[in-house]
Amino acid sequence: MDLIPPAPVLARPALSRLERRSGRRRLLAMRSRSGAALCFAFAAFPAAAFPRRAGRRFGRARGAALRAKKPAPMPETQRVYPAKDLCSRCGLCNTSLISKVQSACAFLGHGMLRIDSLESRVHGRQRTEEELYFGVAQHGIHSIRTKPQHAPKTRTAWTGVVTAIACEMLRSNKVDAVLCVASKGDGAQLEPKPILARTEAEVLSSGGVKPMLSPNLLPLEELWQVRGGEIRRLLFIGVGCQVQALRAVEEDLGLEELYVLGTNCVDNPRSPEALQRFLKSASEFPDTAAGFEFMQDNRIHVKHSDGRYERIPVFSLKDPQMCTGVIAKSCYACFDYVNALTDLTVGYMGAPWEGKEMTQHSQYCVVRNAKGQEMLEIAKDRLRMGEVDLEVPGRVDRFGLLPQVLKPELDLAFGRRKASVGPPRWLAELLCELLTRLGPQGLDFARASIERATVRNLVCLEAMRGQKGSPRTSAELGVPRHAARIREKYQDLYEELLAAYSDGTVQ
Ligand SMILES: Cc1cc2nc3c(=O)[nH]c(=O)nc-3n(C[C@H](O)[C@H](O)[C@H](O)COP(=O)(O)OP(=O)(O)OC[C@H]3O[C@@H](n4cnc5c(N)ncnc54)[C@H](O)[C@@H]3O)c2cc1C
Ligand code: SF4
Ligand code: SF4
Repeated sequence: MDLIPPAPVLARPALSRLERRSGRRRLLAMRSRSGAALCFAFAAFPAAAFPRRAGRRFGRARGAALRAKKPAPMPETQRVYPAKDLCSRCGLCNTSLISKVQSACAFLGHGMLRIDSLESRVHGRQRTEEELYFGVAQHGIHSIRTKPQHAPKTRTAWTGVVTAIACEMLRSNKVDAVLCVASKGDGAQLEPKPILARTEAEVLSSGGVKPMLSPNLLPLEELWQVRGGEIRRLLFIGVGCQVQALRAVEEDLGLEELYVLGTNCVDNPRSPEALQRFLKSASEFPDTAAGFEFMQDNRIHVKHSDGRYERIPVFSLKDPQMCTGVIAKSCYACFDYVNALTDLTVGYMGAPWEGKEMTQHSQYCVVRNAKGQEMLEIAKDRLRMGEVDLEVPGRVDRFGLLPQVLKPELDLAFGRRKASVGPPRWLAELLCELLTRLGPQGLDFARASIERATVRNLVCLEAMRGQKGSPRTSAELGVPRHAARIREKYQDLYEELLAAYSDGTVQ
């Protein structure tokens, strides 16, 4: 276990060269600037927070580590984090594992470049060329859905595959707790509240997407404090940036068993205000929105709290220029759409369009390793798998579509989108129909989405290097091998876009 000792001078010998150069000093300087936060940095948990019996059970060395002084977590009210603007508020800094931030944060040091080595550690090997887009898939990629009798009854959104698996993991006593994202409730249904769920009812309360940055590692502090006690086997549910940080501190958690179940993730809104701004632009009834998703029919589906659905063509956003600044800056520097370090990833975009409501639709899953396969086995009575062929040829080549979509997206990111009148609704609907019937489908639709996000983010990341508010280390932030390979496929387009946007500022 790597701990920050209570005095900075003692910390030095334990730091890597990279940490000495940039990380710890910056962290300390930043905390000094934020006044009272410095006191937090050197406060320590009382050793009494950890029961004595933990020391006996884990052996003397571990017991000593447990009782050792730990750096205090940053308070949740903290405004500036080590990764500054690029912080995805994953929650790690709000735990005493903050001592690991330089090597764990997906947006510090080499950042997401670490996916390459973490893939080897977690899955035993890196992804092959065939696995370029979806990551290591040792047990295949399959369609997946819940059996009708197990479909969620009261869910705010989505199909319930993830929560069904999590419930079965608890029921079969494979894990003691599930770390998942419930809702803040009380008028803030779409805002995330990560919890350590100990019952099926608590797991079910996490159903549906809370489309916002979520501090998923925060409950690890609770787990950390009771470790050696009730929670020794954990199922963690989260998105790519959270899972990367989790994998980096996995060894420090002292768990007997860790399972990681994740979802795809892209373009997360940065705050409640940003989410409302987007909903106002998309929906006629933003106040009752209970969930939304960009679906494979090229429409935004909004589910409302009274059970109604709205389907809005992507070309029909009202005042799209108002959506600049909605997406978190971390998501413009993210190269882990498919959550490569999970044991099992679930998403919707690789399932061909079935013409159903978002909560009824098939999903797809990537089974990365034996633990992922084990989770599916445990939940098999609740699930139907492999019913749908995911490889569906589209009639229009996806390579030709990318330039058309990237320019407006980059204009939005860089605040260059102009107010303009979109096509009339009937034309927007027609365009969506044509695109859905002729364009990429199934896994090819997903590949197109991954390429779009990857090339856009490569351009954004280059522009953000050294930009005010980005972490000073951003010059070192690397891109994983798969992103570099996708860049090669679109080298000319990438260079053209880079020339057009590299002097701009990601908003
Ligand atoms: C922010 C976000 C963006 C997504 N974008 C895409 C996308 O572009 N393409 C795609 O194919 N799929 C995307 N997904 C995944 C998709 O929306 C579904 O979550 C997934 O397919 C699982 O559906 P389900 O019905 O099985 O989930 P459910 O059974 O409803 O369970 C959902 C689970 O998601 C977790 N969760 C909810 N909100 C968050 C959050 N903010 N951060 C971390 N975990 C959370 C909860 O813990 C819960 O266990 C995204 C998910 C999230 C959270
Ligand atoms: S992304 Fe997570 S680890 Fe990185 S600075 Fe933010 S809270 Fe800390
Ligand atoms: S898009 Fe990437 S950075 Fe943003 S919340 Fe999702 S996984 Fe994290």
